[in-house]
Amino acid sequence: MRKLSDISVKNKTVALRADLNVPVKEGIILDDARIEAVIPTVKYLLTQNCKIILISHFGRPKAGTFDSEASLQPIAIRIGEMLNHEVDFISAIEEVKFKSTISLLENTRFLIGELENNEELSKNLGSMAEVYVFDAFGTSHREQASTFGAIHQANVSCAGLLLEAEIEALTKATHSNDRPLLSIVGGSKVSTKLEVLKNLSQFSDHIITGGGITNTFLKAQGFNIGKSLHEESMLDEARQLLGKSSIHLPSKVVVAPSIDSLEHRICSIESVQDHEMILDQCIDSDSLELIANAKQIIWNGPIGVFEKDNFSEGTRDLAKAIAASSAFSLAGGGETLLAIKLFINKGDISYCSTGGGAFLEFMEGKELPSLTALGFIK
Ligand code: ADP
Ligand code: MG
Repeated sequence: MRKLSDISVKNKTVALRADLNVPVKEGIILDDARIEAVIPTVKYLLTQNCKIILISHFGRPKAGTFDSEASLQPIAIRIGEMLNHEVDFISAIEEVKFKSTISLLENTRFLIGELENNEELSKNLGSMAEVYVFDAFGTSHREQASTFGAIHQANVSCAGLLLEAEIEALTKATHSNDRPLLSIVGGSKVSTKLEVLKNLSQFSDHIITGGGITNTFLKAQGFNIGKSLHEESMLDEARQLLGKSSIHLPSKVVVAPSIDSLEHRICSIESVQDHEMILDQCIDSDSLELIANAKQIIWNGPIGVFEKDNFSEGTRDLAKAIAASSAFSLAGGGETLLAIKLFINKGDISYCSTGGGAFLEFMEGKELPSLTALGFIK
């Protein structure tokens, strides 16, 4: 993969495609981790005396029409604060003149042709600056103008420092010989994680399941799971996986009549009642041993409804055990990172990926278009 360290950017103009699609509610940025993640690349480019135009998508506006809710203007202010540097806001491509050292271009999704990977737009984006640096790992699974076409159209293009770090961590976790490798896959639905489970099961020594995925696997083994969230259509797939891989299901779970109910109880997986739902699972001594002995851990998906206090203990205990282990630990996924933020120090996980969908596709073993465009070979 072409990297920043392979090329000379000194005194050049650089278009930096970042993923600044941070969660915002009523104008307030809820989590600026994605902005923070691209700061090292910006700082590096500053040391090289570059003039930088930042590019990103934001939300899902309709192309061709302005929508103030999806404007990147408030993000320009925050980046400026984080860098302690003035950041100019530029509302249209035609106005990019590199007058200031750092500027931010308005949301690429306002541009007609962005989603369709339009050739004309890709040329415009790719030729805006002397170098096109792609650092938006979170959108590297999308074949769009700013994430794919522009990389091809640019005279010089390469990966930024964040992308480099992501690929290094994800490749280490999936391709290293450090054993045992433990994968933990939770979340609500088997269908969204089936390909991840299939791919991880090919090279993991052990898999611990969680959440709705556990429920489906328990049902596939013939246990009564009451009214628990599960997917009937995935039972056959679950049985096949159980036959092929070393999948560890919990021995005790937390059940309640409903997600909002105040009462709940811990019970063995044999004694779930018809009217009950499994909403969390207990991290038993077997799981703790697997985590403590692992040399590598890949974690995606909370193992219970961690958003509710009553059902958060399993995910909290799991996070703490991973944090305490000496394994190289890799975590990814929107809710997974939220749980990490709530329950432990992010720094106690070896690497937290900034990609939700892109992280999952990498774990599925899929080719990510932006990475391929940058010369990455799996
Ligand atoms: P990620 O974003 O980390 O990939 P997912 O989106 O797949 O994770 O799943 C997270 C969601 O799964 C959480 O909102 C959580 O409440 C839900 N969940 C976990 N366990 C259960 C369960 N037993 N029943 C219903 N929902 C669950
Ligand atoms: Mg999610």
